[in-house]
Amino acid sequence: MGRHCLKTSDKVKLILTKLPMTLSIQQISDVSGYHRNTVRPALNSLVTQKAVKLTSTNRNRDYYSNNLADFYRKIAAALPSAAVAQKTGYNFVYSLLKKNISQTKTKIARADFKEFQEIINLAYPFIDFSYQQDGSILPISKITITNGDKNKRFLTFHAIVEPCLCNGEDTSGKSCAMVQGSLQATTDFIFEGNSIVRRLNNTGRACTYSIKIPVSTQQNSLKKAEEPKLDVY
Ligand SMILES: [Zn+2]
Repeated sequence: MGRHCLKTSDKVKLILTKLPMTLSIQQISDVSGYHRNTVRPALNSLVTQKAVKLTSTNRNRDYYSNNLADFYRKIAAALPSAAVAQKTGYNFVYSLLKKNISQTKTKIARADFKEFQEIINLAYPFIDFSYQQDGSILPISKITITNGDKNKRFLTFHAIVEPCLCNGEDTSGKSCAMVQGSLQATTDFIFEGNSIVRRLNNTGRACTYSIKIPVSTQQNSLKKAEEPKLDVY
């Protein structure tokens, strides 16, 4: 394709739409090969059309098209089924925790509900951020966990994810399944067991998940949680 087939604004928009991060004018210039003085007016017209967004009104602002969660929504939509989306979310978060948290630390989280709640929030990757006019960013996704019931077989609690990756709009269920897998990976990693995570309902942009963790007995505490038991869709 020749250099002049695309308008500069088309090229800049394409670059920003495929990426999950914010870029400065210089970075867009580096990636696109266009000079800063060519990139700047193209960006101005894209902002006027509301095709791209600004991180702030400061001089050193960045430009972006996707929020991080938008990017993950596109990944979920591209996956062939909800079962694959669940496994993708599971593998992603399980390997994230394995790389960053020593398994001995999980004993503390197992005994202290607040520690567990913190790990589940820290490990949860499908976050939306809001860019403020002063250049700061605020996370707007959160998981609220209600302390659960315990019987002989299961420890059970609920997790409200708001906004859920589905944003209340994904009727395919693939993005909720990716969230489901990520919650399952966190509980499996901490409790060394095969948890059961189900989406209960959605209310607007929030989804509520039920998490059941098998109460450990000598026999099942020896089980490794490498392979999740996946729901059949
Ligand atoms: Zn959802």
